[in-house]
Order: sequence, then structure tokens, then C-alpha cells
Amino acid sequence: MKLTVLGCLGAYPYQNQGTTSFLLQSGDYNLLLDAGSATLVQLEQVLDPLALDAVILSHYHHDHIADLGVLQYYWQLHPKRNPEKILPIYGHTEDLQHFEALTLAGVTAGQEYFEAEELLLGPFLVTFMKTIHPVPCFAMRFVERGTGKVFVFTGDSGYLESFVPFAKEADLFLADTYLFAGNERHHAHFTSKEAGEIALAAKVKKLVLTHLPQFGDLTQLQAEAQLAAGTKIPVELAAVNHSYNI
Ligand SMILES: [Zn+2]
Ligand SMILES: [Zn+2]
Repeated sequence: MKLTVLGCLGAYPYQNQGTTSFLLQSGDYNLLLDAGSATLVQLEQVLDPLALDAVILSHYHHDHIADLGVLQYYWQLHPKRNPEKILPIYGHTEDLQHFEALTLAGVTAGQEYFEAEELLLGPFLVTFMKTIHPVPCFAMRFVERGTGKVFVFTGDSGYLESFVPFAKEADLFLADTYLFAGNERHHAHFTSKEAGEIALAAKVKKLVLTHLPQFGDLTQLQAEAQLAAGTKIPVELAAVNHSYNI
């Protein structure tokens, strides 16, 4: 599978960079993972938005759904869209107002996922874990069925020990790292140190830091995570337009 970064800042766009969004591809299947600000203009550079097969959302904070409405308009109004094709948008149902907004009649269809159930999504088997966050949010573990490769995305989360089994031996662990070391046990986000510690304990193969802060020295953030992850796990900062082959 291939993961392309469309946006990797937390909270709000800054200096021409948008917030959380990724394109996850396997074969000819195209999945949009969260839809933060600037998603659509970045997506247009790598894929025709009409070629999406589905969208999946970790939670409904603005920095993860800011471009969802305009993606719905793209599908509704673009002259080349096949009117028979409806775009499924997967989200949780713990906030019904937001869940219901995933459906635009004849264009997009809200689809629910549940923590207790595996979701078969094209080439992926997806499992979910509720995170530590001010609003309901779910981490996702994607297993590519054809290869057995594993990609884990934390969504937004404070430290949670159950990430160790959830991310176990992931080929790529994409972790919300909005905070520098020294702010551990925050109610909403990992610190660099916590992301590295979980990566080490879970024996992941690679750690990528995302939901990056707008201020501070990101090389320090990376170094703090690398120190906690040990010398054997490569730690990288997510970067817009960068792709990972998993
Ligand atoms: Zn966020
Ligand atoms: Zn959030």
C-alpha cells in the first residue's frame, strides 16, 4: 500500500500548509483518510478526486474535516462525475449531527463504523480503538489483505497504553505528535517522547510524526521521538506530498 501526505499540521493551516489528511492506496483502490484544510487542492495534484473510492474519518474536529464539505460539492457539481457513483464516507455515530452531515443525497453516503467490529474496506481490513481526546475519536489499524502489511494511524490522542497492542509490529505507525517532550499525559495529544515510547514498545518498523505543531523546532520534536524510540526504529516527520510505500 502507499500512503501520501496531503496535510500534516495540527489544529489550523499555517504558511501554505494544511491540516490532517492522507491518501491511502492499494492497487487501484483510493481511500482518503481525514479531510483537513487544504486537502482538496493537495489531492488534485496527485489524484482526480472523482477517483476516490471512500473517505474515512477519525473524528469530527475541524482540522480533520474542514475540506469535507467542498469535497462533497466537487462530487455534486463536477461535470465529469458519474451520477450513478456515490462516495461512501465512513465515520463514527457518537456525534449524530456530524455523522448525518456525511450524507449529501445522491452524492455521498455516511457509513458507520464501530469500535467492536472489523470493517472490510476494499483491500483493507480495518479495526478501531477509541482514543483519549476531548471528543470521540478513533485510531485505525489497516491490514492490507493481499500482503498482510499493517499501517496504524493514531487519530488524535493523548497517551494510552493500549496503543502498544493496537500498533503491534506495524510496518508504519503514524502518530499524532502535537507536543514536545515535557508535556506528557496531555488530555488530547501525544508528546514526541510518548510517540517514541509506544513505537518502541509496540516494535513498529517505522514511526512517522504527524499533527505537527506550527511553532517550535521540528527537528527537536523528531530527535525527542527518536531518543525514546531507540536506535532501531527510523523516525520521520510527515511532509506534504511525501509518499511511503508500506
Ligand atoms: Zn486534530
Ligand atoms: Zn482532534
